[in-house]
Amino acid sequence: MNKNMNREIECLFNLQRLDKRRAELEHKLRSLPVAAEVREIAGTISRDEAVIREMVGELAAMKKGQKEKEWELAEITKNQAAIQKKLYGGEVTNPREIGGLEVKLNNIEICKRKLEDDLVGLMERIEATEETLKQKTEMLAEKRRLLESLESDLRGQEGEIRDELAALAVQREAVASEVTGGLLAIYEQLLRSKGGLAVAGVRGDICGGCHVALPTFVIMQLKAGGRVVRCENCGRILFRQRA
Ligand SMILES: [Zn+2]
Repeated sequence: MNKNMNREIECLFNLQRLDKRRAELEHKLRSLPVAAEVREIAGTISRDEAVIREMVGELAAMKKGQKEKEWELAEITKNQAAIQKKLYGGEVTNPREIGGLEVKLNNIEICKRKLEDDLVGLMERIEATEETLKQKTEMLAEKRRLLESLESDLRGQEGEIRDELAALAVQREAVASEVTGGLLAIYEQLLRSKGGLAVAGVRGDICGGCHVALPTFVIMQLKAGGRVVRCENCGRILFRQRA
C-alpha cells in the first residue's frame, strides 16, 4: 500500500510530463506557420479568380461590341456604295437631289470615320485586356502550384504531430491505468485549475509550484511517503524528486 502510493504519485508526475507535451503539440497543431501561409495564398487566389472572372466578362462584352460595330460599318459602307453609285452613275440629274445625296454621303463619311476610330480603340483595349488576362492567368497558375505544395507541407506537418499525439495517448493510458480513479480525478482537476502544473516537484524544502518553503512536518510526511501530500499554500500534489 505504502509503496503503491509512492508509485502512483510518481506516475502522476510522469503523466503531467505527457500532458504538458500533449498541450504543446495541440497548440503547435493549431498555430502552424504553414497553415497561415495556406490561408493567405488561398485568399489571394480567390481574389485573383474574381478579378479574372470580371475581366473575362469585360472581354466578352468588348468583343460583342466589336462585332456590332463591324456589322454597323459594313452596313454603312454598303449604303455609301449605293449612294455613290446613284450619284456618280448618272442616275440622278436633279441638282437638288444631287445636293441632298452629297450631304448624305458627307454624313456617312463622318459616321464611318467615327466608327473606324471606335473600332481601333476597342481593338486596342481588347488586345491590352487579353495580355493582362494572360499574365494574371499565368500568375494564378503559379500561385495554385505554390498552394498545392504548401498544403502538402501542412498535411505532412499535421500528420507528424497527430502521430506523436496518438503515441502519447497510448503512453498516457498505460501510465494513467496505474493511478486510482480518485487520485486521477484530483490530478486532472488540479491540472486545469493550476495552469497545467498539478504535481509540484520539491527541491530542498521549496514547493516547485508556488516556490514557498514547506513546513518541516510536510517535508517529514513526504520523506515518510505512502500518502498524498499537498502543498498548504497552492494545493498542488507534492512529489519528492530524487536529485
Ligand atoms: Zn505550493
